Amino acid sequence: MSVDEGVVILGAGLAGLGAALSLDGARVYEAENHPGGHAYSRPLGEFHFDQGAHIVHSKADWFLRTVQENCKDIHVLSGSSVKNVWNGSFIGYPVQNHLADLPLDMRTAALSALVRANVDSVGSEPENYEEWVRSSYGSVLADEFYAVFTKKYWRRPMASLGTDWLSGRLIPADLDNIVRGAMGADAQRQDVFQEFRYPKHGGYFAFFAAAYDRIDVRYERRAVELDPREKTVAFEDGSSVGYEQLVSTIPLPRLVAITKDVPSDVRDAADRLHHTKLLCVNFVVDRPQVTDNHWFYIYDEAVEAARVSVPSNLAGSSSSQSAVQAEVFRDHREEWNPDLIADSVAGSLQDLLGFSSNDITEFSWRTVSHAYVISDRDRAAAVACILEWLEGVSVYTAGLYGRWRYLWSDQAMASGINVAGLLKEKSS
Ligand SMILES: Cc1cc2nc3c(=O)[nH]c(=O)nc-3n(C[C@H](O)[C@H](O)[C@H](O)COP(=O)(O)OP(=O)(O)OC[C@H]3O[C@@H](n4cnc5c(N)ncnc54)[C@H](O)[C@@H]3O)c2cc1C
Repeated sequence: MSVDEGVVILGAGLAGLGAALSLDGARVYEAENHPGGHAYSRPLGEFHFDQGAHIVHSKADWFLRTVQENCKDIHVLSGSSVKNVWNGSFIGYPVQNHLADLPLDMRTAALSALVRANVDSVGSEPENYEEWVRSSYGSVLADEFYAVFTKKYWRRPMASLGTDWLSGRLIPADLDNIVRGAMGADAQRQDVFQEFRYPKHGGYFAFFAAAYDRIDVRYERRAVELDPREKTVAFEDGSSVGYEQLVSTIPLPRLVAITKDVPSDVRDAADRLHHTKLLCVNFVVDRPQVTDNHWFYIYDEAVEAARVSVPSNLAGSSSSQSAVQAEVFRDHREEWNPDLIADSVAGSLQDLLGFSSNDITEFSWRTVSHAYVISDRDRAAAVACILEWLEGVSVYTAGLYGRWRYLWSDQAMASGINVAGLLKEKSS
């Protein structure tokens, strides 16, 4: 039985939250039994674990106000403690600013390649990520570090990626800093994020939990069919609703798959969208501050984890135990055995951080079906084709997976607020 409603929003992540807070009377339908989407955190032992490392590094006043209103106990950090792991040892991050940590021959080769690349690339615009990396950091660091890490993190060769995802993610080459670092002097701090915030309790979701009390969310309502002509959405539990206006924040390929009468070029475009999936392996270790890092990146191919974060340090915990999370990425189409991978990650982390299996008081793993949207060179055209058709049938999308491009939390929420503004304009 279909009940007529005004505005229907699919998905209760941050984009759905932003849209619902801006649209009076909107109702949100969420597939899971909890709000938050990717911003959700789960308890394990005395800590909370996120779905991959999450911090608030936003500079947007409205967003900082939102998280401060929702969460009273915030740990504010100025500068991050981040390292790389290479050949089983910790070295400085980013590697180009810490060349003195590399063996002498490699350090010399890396420095000359980097200087040559900076000179050769003057006036040229990189067409893909590989060209950007080679012209920024030189061929030695590109081959030894960036190519290997791209394979672990993006599951792709560097040349297949575009450059539209780089902003705020990679540190641009600063020659003075690089030379200082190569000579063993402390490079001047070049943080991706100068200041960031994390809740003292409850994990990342504590920034948003209270805001969900102000919106109307129906849980365990996975949309399985959308009929834009009849303006109805059907759910897995057999129920359905009618709508006047619809906002979808669910992953674009899924939206296309459940929508009726989609033309073949739009379906083909959806087949060209790719993303990574994520395995989070969570540990509570019976040691205070098992490492002083907030997070670190692992370049070694033999180690499954690409990034390890330390939620207990992010929260500024003074506990006698530590919370550690390792992230393993795969392309969404790759087969995997999370159980086996989690065991192998546990072994690697014990070697790296010097704890034993007896020190692990809690252990769990969780898979996340959608992690990063892959910004390959097909992405932008395929997304434009899909969004144009959807908007033609009055289906509006928001959020990281709704717009299918990387958005930080503030941008995801803003994307929901923006689409709400558009709907209000249309109905006025
Ligand atoms: C590994 C990782 C680390 C990150 N770290 C940071 C960080 O440090 N700082 C930062 O600012 N941002 C970070 N982000 C980005 C941030 O998590 C996202 O921008 C934000 O959470 C996206 O919100 P969203 O609402 O767009 O999507 P989602 O959170 O995915 O929300 C979509 C919702 O739709 C629901 N849904 C899916 N299918 C259906 C269906 N058929 N029917 C109904 N509901 C459905 C889902 O369950 C989900 O709740 C990170 C992202 C990742 C992947």
